[in-house]
Amino acid sequence: MPYTVVICGGGLTGVELALELPSRLRKLFGEQALPRIIVVDSGKRIGAAFSEELGNIIATASQCQSVEWRSECRVTHIDSHGVELSDGSNIACFTSVITAGVNASPLAGQINAKRDAQGRLFVNDMLCVEGESSVYAAGDIAHAHCDDSGHTALMSCQHAIPMGKFAGYNAVASLLHISPLPYRQPDYVTCVDLGEWGAVYTETWQQRVCMTRQEAKQLKQTITHELIAPPQDRTQAFSLADPLAQFVEMTQE
Ligand SMILES: Cc1cc2nc3c(=O)[nH]c(=O)nc-3n(C[C@H](O)[C@H](O)[C@H](O)COP(=O)(O)OP(=O)(O)OC[C@H]3O[C@@H](n4cnc5c(N)ncnc54)[C@H](O)[C@@H]3O)c2cc1C
Repeated sequence: MPYTVVICGGGLTGVELALELPSRLRKLFGEQALPRIIVVDSGKRIGAAFSEELGNIIATASQCQSVEWRSECRVTHIDSHGVELSDGSNIACFTSVITAGVNASPLAGQINAKRDAQGRLFVNDMLCVEGESSVYAAGDIAHAHCDDSGHTALMSCQHAIPMGKFAGYNAVASLLHISPLPYRQPDYVTCVDLGEWGAVYTETWQQRVCMTRQEAKQLKQTITHELIAPPQDRTQAFSLADPLAQFVEMTQE
């Protein structure tokens, strides 16, 4: 029980946390610690928010590290003794972590414009807030179309960073009376850390698995340490600022 952790929500944050914990707890408390990690998620299968192919990889990595899943279940109550689930069962634990999703900053509510279920402001292709064209919104606070097939930007660095570049460019373009650039980002990838098992990397919105284990882990580390790391100085910031420069390179067409 001291090393039992319940993760409430099996999305990307829940998966990465759950799969990191077994080795982290063993390192901290020794091999005798026998950590028990349980992910509670309302989806029908492990990784229900993702493609079946990606979900299967998450299931394999979970099994290898003895991470348990309670699917089709919701957490209904948490206290210092444990959690209560929607099927009436209880899990005794001293530690539970809620990873049940993110919402846009409440600052969005100060703008008199339409917002989506996550509180994000709807923006047009130039990233101007719909109905409030003097305000630009980019990143987690913006509900933006990223291609012509109906895909919407996710609350991720992958979308936030290019959106920031487009919004900055377009704000300056409006002051200089030059043409703005419509935000477009058709390529989509997912890279999920899976603890000691490695990682998984997928391409396209269908999340086709392209890389797994240590190869994908190396890529994940390059992404977090280099690709999404803030620029070191002004020169580097300007060199990275071009909205039309490719941000994510797909390995397959
Ligand atoms: C645990 C976790 C793991 C993640 N892992 C990944 C990943 O692997 N890959 C990926 O692509 N994305 C990942 N993300 C998502 C990613 O971090 C966000 O999508 C991204 O940071 C959004 O950028 P942003 O600039 O819109 O918002 P933020 O990065 O949240 O920046 C907003 C900034 O605005 C400031 N701020 C807020 N309110 C005000 C105010 N009123 N006035 C002034 N400043 C204000 C905040 O202090 C903050 O500095 C992860 C997120 C979480 C929580």
